[in-house]
Amino acid sequence: MEPPYTGGCQCGAIRYEITEKPITLYACHCTDCQKQSASAFGMTFRIHSDALKITAGTPQEWHTVADSGNAKIAYFCGACGTRLYNAPQRHPGALSIKAGTLDDTSWLKPVGSVWTRSAQPWVMIPPSPLNHETQPDSMQSFVDAWQEKNG
Ligand SMILES: [Zn+2]
Ligand SMILES: [Zn+2]
Repeated sequence: MEPPYTGGCQCGAIRYEITEKPITLYACHCTDCQKQSASAFGMTFRIHSDALKITAGTPQEWHTVADSGNAKIAYFCGACGTRLYNAPQRHPGALSIKAGTLDDTSWLKPVGSVWTRSAQPWVMIPPSPLNHETQPDSMQSFVDAWQEKNG
């Protein structure tokens, strides 16, 4: 799928456009992602910060610390509460778009899963050499695997 990609919150007050292909895409089963998605897991669509354009509304900010111990700023719609993206402080210049907020999610296929240790027991995680019980020290193998499959 070629950029730009569009997306937004559930109520439509916040809309965005992404102007580049993702750096990588993976699923995260940490308890934080279960909480923030109000569901079973999160999907992280990593991009460079300057590839995100907010085209409607202004996201609200919330500062927090992830299970991994890394600080991040979470951005969400103040009207409907949808989490839109996180700015992980450990990766300056990168954003983690919450992939379920994209208008077209049909082409998304994570290359692997992290924090499988806390995955909900019914979730079938596709086998991948990239699956990790917790947070890997580096996400480089996830970047390489995505680039290999999606160029
Ligand atoms: Zn909204
Ligand atoms: Zn997570």
